[in-house]
Amino acid sequence: TPVIYWVRRDLRLSDNGALTAAVDTGRPVIPLFICDEVVEGHGAAPKFRLGEGVRVFGGALAETGSRLILRRGAALDVLREVIAQTGAEAVYWNRLYDPEAKARDTKVKAALKDDGVEAKSFAGHLLFEPWTVETKTGGFYKVFTPMWKMVRDRDVAAPVPAPDDIPAPADWPESDDLDDWGLGDAMRRGAAVLAPHMCVGEEAARGRLGAFMAHKVEGYDTNRDLPSVDGTSRLSENLTYGEISPATCWHAGRRGMAEGKKGAETFCKELVWREFAYHLAHHTPRITTDNWKEDWDAFPWNEDERKAEVKAWKQGRTGLPFVDAAMREMYVTGTMHNRGRMIVASYLTKHLLCHWKIGMKWFEDCLIDWDPASNAMGWQWSAGSGPDATPYFRVFNPDTQVEKFDRDGQYRKTWIAERYGSPSDTALSYFNAIPESWPMSPDDDYPKPIVEASEGRKRALEAYENRDF
Ligand code: FAD
Repeated sequence: TPVIYWVRRDLRLSDNGALTAAVDTGRPVIPLFICDEVVEGHGAAPKFRLGEGVRVFGGALAETGSRLILRRGAALDVLREVIAQTGAEAVYWNRLYDPEAKARDTKVKAALKDDGVEAKSFAGHLLFEPWTVETKTGGFYKVFTPMWKMVRDRDVAAPVPAPDDIPAPADWPESDDLDDWGLGDAMRRGAAVLAPHMCVGEEAARGRLGAFMAHKVEGYDTNRDLPSVDGTSRLSENLTYGEISPATCWHAGRRGMAEGKKGAETFCKELVWREFAYHLAHHTPRITTDNWKEDWDAFPWNEDERKAEVKAWKQGRTGLPFVDAAMREMYVTGTMHNRGRMIVASYLTKHLLCHWKIGMKWFEDCLIDWDPASNAMGWQWSAGSGPDATPYFRVFNPDTQVEKFDRDGQYRKTWIAERYGSPSDTALSYFNAIPESWPMSPDDDYPKPIVEASEGRKRALEAYENRDF
């Protein structure tokens, strides 16, 4: 009888624990992707990007002689249906750690076991299982640096190669057609805008890692902070869909360290920030929905998304060029440089006094590297309500940030059309991407700041001082 390999955020053949274990049973393997309740709830860009990942993974499986079966519906219902249709007696998958996926998986595991089906989950989405990293006094890490020190020299198992052969069943169950799912339909800017900026699939991800280690890692320590320089790995898009395993990245980083490559250790450290986000999401699931520090419930955030200031922020028309450049970069490319993320998040939550959830939701709609744990941690870190967060009174000054990280104005020129005599193609591409309901044109005057940097800072500090906790 076949084994169902339930495919989720693990769109790769190599270093895939569940797939390898399924193959090792010697039984036929049915790879199954379900457009389920969790996927249906994704934002527009993540849903589209996931669909493209599934398409490429389906192709990769087909090259090995296997197939990717696609079904839509609640995960448990679909699994039971496919089990009934194929006579499968086992379902294997790789574990996820965000609260939504975990709730679904716990329910599925218990129900399948009740049905007498073998339901087995495997590690692979993280370097370290969250329950294996403990502080000296027991418990999980709430501060990054001690966690980094604890894990930096740990052994991480070497990545397992892709199976040579994935045994096929005599009869394949029926599959939906991916195009019928319309996973890109929710995107107002249309799939064609994002597609050229995406780098989809396991092969592409390995290429990215190789190029990073060969050409960028030496300069990573300095370049990673400069948004106009292509100085980072850009692997977040692939890691979030599991097109490359974190262990593969970690081992590349460790090899780089052994070869004396500057920047290689910082790269490993950044991978551990991703771990930190997941460990927090596992141990304190409220990080993805509520203030991690509960005191912050009393903070007078604006929670009204319809406010003109929120719209201006989303549309990249705050009048602060660095903030606007970053927001426009995200709208066109589906990614934003980390420096930009920190600045726009600080601006929304401090200068504009808006709730971080508004920003988190907008990122969730726009990012092709959207990750439930890293996004939530990044927002709560920026807002001051999260663990190991930047204190609220540390308000990023957009002018100083420009001086430090975009002195020559290259990043702003790349994304803002209205301020410059001959706008760049990228700056104009933003205007081709925005929906008609956004009344903007490259010929407009560039807006005056909706809140001046100094005024916003003053307002934020006053609100903080007057808080009653
Ligand atoms: P690199 O610099 O090459 O780093 C290598 C890898 O380390 C990344 O691919 C990523 O997996 C991990 N990493 C690096 N920095 C962080 C970090 N601060 N937190 C967690 N992991 C990190 N990252 C996402 O993957 N998805 C998100 O939805 C997301 N939302 C964010 C929201 C805010 C407000 C902030 C401040 C940060 C957010 N980040 C998010 C973290 C970070 O900005 C991105 O991981 C990074 O920009 C990805 O670029 P890269 O792959 O070139 O990173």
